[in-house]
Amino acid sequence: MTMTPGRLAGRTALVTGGSRGIGRAISLRLAAEGALVAVHYGHNASAADDTISDIEGAGGQAFAVHAELGVSGDAEALWATFDKQLSEFGARSGVDILVNNAGITLPRRIADVNEEDYDRLFAVNVKAPFFVLQHALGRLRDNGRVINISSGVTRIAMPQIVAYAMTKGALDTLSLTLAQELGPRGITVNTVAPGFTLTDINPTLQVKQVLDAYASASVFNRIGQPSDIADVVAFVASDDARWVTGQWLDATGGTHIGLPAS
Ligand code: NAP
Repeated sequence: MTMTPGRLAGRTALVTGGSRGIGRAISLRLAAEGALVAVHYGHNASAADDTISDIEGAGGQAFAVHAELGVSGDAEALWATFDKQLSEFGARSGVDILVNNAGITLPRRIADVNEEDYDRLFAVNVKAPFFVLQHALGRLRDNGRVINISSGVTRIAMPQIVAYAMTKGALDTLSLTLAQELGPRGITVNTVAPGFTLTDINPTLQVKQVLDAYASASVFNRIGQPSDIADVVAFVASDDARWVTGQWLDATGGTHIGLPAS
């Protein structure tokens, strides 16, 4: 995908979990296109600092927003910090692009999921983006963008991560439903669904046999890179995608789309 410097000039973006992995790539990409990016993180401040330094080194603008998600009052805390940091940055209030990207996984089959882990997973992956969006409603400018990061596992059954897949199914429904509600304001709401992508969320990808097995699931026979996802998000965030809403964009590199040709 081609980058158009300045395509997002004058826009403010918030990327939850924008400090590491896919979110970091999204932060870098949106900033490279001219957006002021709020790089949210939960625990690892130095990763957020690194991402911001890289953005600034490339001539972009960014600031950090710290808020742990999955705890009571998380969304209010996130937005209060966002408002404060934005004002200290000297930028006008409000947000144009919200990327709900932060998430955790739970690599367990149904027989091995306990209630505590289940509740934590839903708190971070479902409840947090729901209330982040609720508190975004008054801050989102008309013609804005909401992009929720789901997963290919709502299309492809993976019993190994059943509860995680359920959380992403809930997020998919949120995208579709809010696209209907926010359409009159010109705000698009879409889902981008990555496949197997090389980040810290899945440590087993460090094992070559596992990496090769996941790579072979894609018609391109490789594992996804965070930038593969960030490029799709940048398109959805741009004016070019103004006529696309309520959609689930598959960014899995054609994972499990059919049988081998021969
Ligand atoms: P990652 O490398 O583990 O990064 C996760 C990001 O989310 C970090 O910035 C982290 O910040 C933040 N985060 C996690 N838990 C948080 C919490 N409780 N409170 C606040 N921030 C929190 O993960 P990733 O692979 O980039 O995943 C990003 C998104 O893509 C997730 O929604 C994931 O489900 C989805 N996805 C990933 C893959 C894949 O193969 N990688 C595939 C499909 C979908 P801190 O470190 O500061 O907490």
